[in-house]
Amino acid sequence: MKTKVCALCTIEETTLYRVQITKGKTWIFVCTDCCNKVKVEPNYRYGGTWKGDRH
Ligand SMILES: [Zn+2]
Repeated sequence: MKTKVCALCTIEETTLYRVQITKGKTWIFVCTDCCNKVKVEPNYRYGGTWKGDRH
């Protein structure tokens, strides 16, 4: 099982969400908690779910 580190709180998770919270082409991977927090950002965009247990 693979893990990634959340770009915002640095917790290690097996499921992360690819999101944008700033304008431009920068995508970050965030955990479930942080994903819920950044959903209110005006530039929030969701780009898919990454699952470490599917690789
Ligand atoms: Zn996080």
